[in-house]
Amino acid sequence: MKLCGLWLEDKENSVICTACIRRCKIGVGRTGACMTRKNEGGKLYSLTYGHISSIALDPIEKKPLFHFFPGSHVYSVGGWGCNFGCGMCQNYEIAHIVPGLRDEDALSPEELVSNALERNADGMAFTYNEPAIWPEFVRDVFKLAKKHDLYTVLVTNGSSTKESIDYYGPYCDAYRVDIKGMTDITLGRIGIRGIDPSEILEGTIWARDRWGMHVECVTNIIPTVNDSESELRAIATWIRDNLGPRVPWHITRFYPALRFRHLMPTDLPSLEMAERIGRQIGLSYIYIGNVHTQRGENTYCPRCQALIIEREGYKIKQNLSAMGRCTRCGELLGITASDTRESYRS
Ligand code: SF4
Repeated sequence: MKLCGLWLEDKENSVICTACIRRCKIGVGRTGACMTRKNEGGKLYSLTYGHISSIALDPIEKKPLFHFFPGSHVYSVGGWGCNFGCGMCQNYEIAHIVPGLRDEDALSPEELVSNALERNADGMAFTYNEPAIWPEFVRDVFKLAKKHDLYTVLVTNGSSTKESIDYYGPYCDAYRVDIKGMTDITLGRIGIRGIDPSEILEGTIWARDRWGMHVECVTNIIPTVNDSESELRAIATWIRDNLGPRVPWHITRFYPALRFRHLMPTDLPSLEMAERIGRQIGLSYIYIGNVHTQRGENTYCPRCQALIIEREGYKIKQNLSAMGRCTRCGELLGITASDTRESYRS
């Protein structure tokens, strides 16, 4: 157990957790909705600080992040618990169970970063479960990772409060955020209740504009749930108008899981429709993921249409960008890479 950094005192020894936009009011002896933060004697403690459920050295493309150090490898770490309740969760075993965790089994930030360096990782990511519920660990690990010149990535459902983003923001380089839907009705259909989607959108803008994080958005397209033309149009329009047309939008194929096992996987025409909508709206970089297509994962120059990065699965077959520019026409592509790193967040 570790004393949390993000909470407020409330009446009669209750506390308000300010880590995520649920802002749970938690009475003495109780935990918040994520089950990982507990009020002990009028103070809020993280039950999961340093408790790791999963670790892997992944290609950065697997997050997916396509415009952030392409071809690099990221030490990817997950913990326990979640604050949403998505019907299609692929990580249910780690996202919804907090087993009997013992303090002596927790890893320190030093151990984790040293493991990443031993594996020759280029960066460190919190992923697999929702990192917004343990901002204290995220901040401590990222702070140390930056000292060792590792880049840092948050793969998130976008539920951090602005206070929380300010807390880890100085040490976080990239924010890979799910934009699952634009209304609480859509989120409710997915299984996420009591969340105002506008707070997810505002947090994303905050991460980018206040802290200069590299942002990429993902929409997992679930048949009959969030695949209507109007929903997809609204998401693409929001990205264009608030983050800019050069922010990548990954539209990914849904596979049946958990409570959505009765649904079919997203068919290719639906993904292509989403891509078409994104192009009509004016987005420059739209990627189709979780399914093999001829060009869906390649990066093309938005100005001269030259093939810049050719991908096959998570592998880069060729990368023709230099200093973040198209080598044919010189267009600035919005790709952060080792040859653009010095200017990044300067
Ligand atoms: S992280 Fe979110 S869900 Fe968990 S206790 Fe805090 S406000 Fe509640």
